[in-house]
Amino acid sequence: MTLSATCEWQFSSERGRANYDAARRRYPAQAIVDLAALRDNMRRLVGMVGGPASGTAVMGVVKADAYGHGLIPSALAALAGGATWLGTAQSHEALLLRKAGIGSERCHILTWVYNGTAVPFDELIANDIDVSVGSLSGIDGVAEAARRLGKTARVHVKVDSGFGRNGFTPAGFDAALAKLVPLAREGVLHVVGQWSHLAVADAPDVPEFVASTDRQIECFKDFTRRMESAGIAPEIRHLANTAATLSRPEIHFELTRPGIGLYGYEADPAMGAPATYGLKPAMTLQAQLGTVKDVEAGHGVSYGRTYLTPSDTSTAIVPIGYADGIHRSASGFDMEGAKHVIKDGGPVRVMTAEGPRLYRVSGRVCMDQFILDLHGSAAELGVHEGDTVELFGPGRGEDYAEPTADDWGRAADTISYEIFTCLRNRIPRLYEHASDVLSAEDLAKLDPASML
Ligand SMILES: *Cc1c(COP(=O)(O)O)cnc(C)c1O
Repeated sequence: MTLSATCEWQFSSERGRANYDAARRRYPAQAIVDLAALRDNMRRLVGMVGGPASGTAVMGVVKADAYGHGLIPSALAALAGGATWLGTAQSHEALLLRKAGIGSERCHILTWVYNGTAVPFDELIANDIDVSVGSLSGIDGVAEAARRLGKTARVHVKVDSGFGRNGFTPAGFDAALAKLVPLAREGVLHVVGQWSHLAVADAPDVPEFVASTDRQIECFKDFTRRMESAGIAPEIRHLANTAATLSRPEIHFELTRPGIGLYGYEADPAMGAPATYGLKPAMTLQAQLGTVKDVEAGHGVSYGRTYLTPSDTSTAIVPIGYADGIHRSASGFDMEGAKHVIKDGGPVRVMTAEGPRLYRVSGRVCMDQFILDLHGSAAELGVHEGDTVELFGPGRGEDYAEPTADDWGRAADTISYEIFTCLRNRIPRLYEHASDVLSAEDLAKLDPASML
């Protein structure tokens, strides 16, 4: 019998169980997303801004395939949790949302990253998608498309309040206003919003960063005043990402834009654990073990011999690697290995005869696999080829020895965001609780093979 280190999945039907079995035959790893957790996280975020009647709306940021969780299912779960806006960086993804049948009567959609000379503004405007303008050529591009279509474009003016990425700088803003004001008067553009992004809102413990966020807020307000005196006061101001939604109620304004919080994580582990904020990580990444075998002490493990087994032991193959998005920087080294340093690899929860145990990537992560030193005999531990192991999950506390994407972020010297978004789509995405969260009409928008 093979063991599983993940929780018991709740299948909605026999079909769900069959989908699960089919996904396991198709690929030796699965990313399972709990749509109820996504919905509940959004409810929680809506609650944090004061509820649906507070005057502050919440945008579910679903860029990058909803941080790797799957664009359409995640967007629908966010709407089920009370989001009234969706946001994507790439216009392509904004269009996919509308094409999936998420209409303008249901939510606003904002898209922001673009090259003002080559974005499909006409398609965006025709599909009632709000666009960000943060450059003069961007304003020209939107205005031309709106004139061509004979339809007013809804725009959000992006200002650079100190992030140093997109948007008009204070010095460049008069030129922007000179273009925007006549276009707004003429009805070519409707200036819906003013917005900006924060650089260090996730470090409430570092006074220098708190001060720089304060400066960004002051700068943001100056921009608002300049828009007001130019006669194009923004209806909606938005500045808060997850970190500021959780920790800076004074800048919730009319809309907040949480991304990582929707997926159940805080922006930085320095802010505390997800549970501190009532958030639940929605994705579990599991895999089925390949070869399990006994090796002697001093056996080199993987490329570069950066890990040598300290004693007679068993090893197990986890059959996904950096081509699946398992960071090579999450490799694990030991003192005996060629680097002569101890570096903890990414954590993996393995079910043994005595209960769950946390192991670490041993040696280099390869393209399609990595290896675990089981620190003991697999036969005695009851670990077998085909067992399901868990790379990360909701983080069910100490007793469960369950890693989270934050733990992988630490092991790979990155952040949870990159852990999810790097997961390739060759790993099947499966959805738990889809039929509990979504209406029949929304369920029909999902790939039927993806539902548990
Ligand atoms: C990604 C992004 C967000 C969401 O950030 P989180 O830290 O995930 O909450 C909000 N606004 C903009 C402009 C973004 O690019």
